[in-house]
Amino acid sequence: MWWAQTHNKRQRDGRSAMARLIQKFGGTSLADIARIKTVAERVRREVEHGHQVAVVVSAMAGTTDRLVAWTRETSRLHDAREYDVVVSSGEQVTAGVLALALQDLGVDARSWLGWQIPISTDRVHGKARIEAIEVAELDRRLERGQVAVVAGFQGLGPDGRITTLGRGGSDTSAVALAAALKADRCDIFTDVDGVYTADPRIVTRARKLDKITYEEMLEMASQGAKVLQTRSVEMAMNHRVRVQVLSSFIDVPGTLVADEDEIVEQQIVSGIAYSRDEAKITVQKVPDRPGVAAAIFGPLAEHAINVDMIVQNVSEDGRADLTFTVARADLERAVSVLEAKREALGFSALKPDSNVVKISVIGVGMRSHAGVAQKMFQTLFEKGINIQVISTSEIKVSVLIAAEYTELALRALHTAYGLDAQE
Ligand code: ADP
Ligand code: ASP
Ligand code: MG
Repeated sequence: MWWAQTHNKRQRDGRSAMARLIQKFGGTSLADIARIKTVAERVRREVEHGHQVAVVVSAMAGTTDRLVAWTRETSRLHDAREYDVVVSSGEQVTAGVLALALQDLGVDARSWLGWQIPISTDRVHGKARIEAIEVAELDRRLERGQVAVVAGFQGLGPDGRITTLGRGGSDTSAVALAAALKADRCDIFTDVDGVYTADPRIVTRARKLDKITYEEMLEMASQGAKVLQTRSVEMAMNHRVRVQVLSSFIDVPGTLVADEDEIVEQQIVSGIAYSRDEAKITVQKVPDRPGVAAAIFGPLAEHAINVDMIVQNVSEDGRADLTFTVARADLERAVSVLEAKREALGFSALKPDSNVVKISVIGVGMRSHAGVAQKMFQTLFEKGINIQVISTSEIKVSVLIAAEYTELALRALHTAYGLDAQE
């Protein structure tokens, strides 16, 4: 395991009620000084219960967006190392301010930036992966009752420079720290009181889940439910970190991300996610012969462009239309890579379309129940919504539809699978 070399075994001195907690606060919970003071009160409560607490903070709401915009405004093809210097700065502010707010309440607290711990990552600036966390010093300080306030979203690359973990990355900082510090639980405080059957901002009848399996949460996150960063769920699943998603504004139990056998009443479909981050490309009239798919997807892979959904329509004249999706951010690049190969590939036209959304229904119950996909297709058909591409996995069915139908499709599917909250 990646932290094994650095982990310092914890002694609990028989204080059995004492727990070690990681508390992560998102941007809206830290949006201004008044809210940061409220967060400090919340942290103090746990300290007063005798718990050891490490806090992971995001930047104030809106800050990271503004920092990203500044880098783009300055330089379109910005250097990723300098991008990380700029966009990681929001968390430096909140870590320091929260440490001050805690000290003001009489709580012993100290802030930590990624490089000071260090949280070591790989060299992929802008979307780095955590490789190791040196926990010995944090461990000692937690043991003596000091609260560690850790700047989320940032680490230290092998080049000795600051890295960031991709948008939403402070969730991953928190789970990684929980794994490394062998915390009893990792609480992710956000602006909703848990994980819902669908994004509650769009589906007003969405229902809060008491528990969700790691696998389902991983699919939900990777299919667009941004309540947790996908990597944080992957890491929680691999290291069996108990993650709870809850509100920092209201004091109600949240959603526990847990093992399948902990969940008593399992629905067939437990959630619906959507992603506007996809774009579609249709390669028209490519010669329908062996090797063509490899010839198209090979160059995309060489340029590190991931292809997600794929469909091929065979036409009669020995040619086919190949449609697939890439991340919206990669659309321009994908088109230029393929245009450069137009002659070799022999297609007649390339049709890019970013006016699409991917809708996914997710549930471990699909393994043992048939008809989930059929219900999705029927429901969309009844609403007159055309399905452009389909893809499936063991516990998920995804369809690509025109973006203007997002809300309609989400709400109709939510009702069709019996997920609506009781009035
Ligand atoms: P934070 O700043 O606390 O990290 P995020 O904006 O990253 O907060 O994540 C919380 C948001 O995730 C919610 O406001 C909600 O709109 C969105 N979301 C999307 N899908 C879901 C879902 N299935 N359950 C709960 N929230 C969801
Ligand atoms: N502040 C970063 C972002 O907005 C990290 C996070 O909030 O998790 O993406
Ligand atoms: Mg987030």
